[in-house]
Amino acid sequence: MSNLEDLYRDIILDHYRSPRNRGELPSPPAQRVEGFNPLCGDEITVYLNVEDDVLVDIKLTGQGCSISQASSSMMSSAVKGKSLDQVRDAIGSFKELMTVRESTLEQDGPPLEPDLRSLGELAALAGVVKFPVRIKCATLAWNTLSLALDEVTS
Ligand code: ZN
Repeated sequence: MSNLEDLYRDIILDHYRSPRNRGELPSPPAQRVEGFNPLCGDEITVYLNVEDDVLVDIKLTGQGCSISQASSSMMSSAVKGKSLDQVRDAIGSFKELMTVRESTLEQDGPPLEPDLRSLGELAALAGVVKFPVRIKCATLAWNTLSLALDEVTS
């Protein structure tokens, strides 16, 4: 195992053991949206407070495998305090990370390397796509966040 993989594993374990932004927000006014990944049994509830197109606060509850819990913790720290445009960009980048790698699994050519530097800690989850069944674990929090944003802005 390379040093980079060690680092990534440590980041994921750190978020799993010490999840960020854990808890609930009063709803209303917070937007509350639940997500579920039946393939693995992962559950998440996302609470959002949006003011003036800024995601001023986010809290999460839920339970599931280490990938789903680490990904939700990393998602919350990546988007808290960001403008809604930045949040949507982050969702797009993360989904691209999962999709690009997924498509490379079906080809024999050299893998397309996404720009991991722009993703910061989230790059730690890039290795998940070697295990396609876990992709839904990693994307659950992001899909749920995306739904919550749609409800806030509709
Ligand atoms: Zn899972």
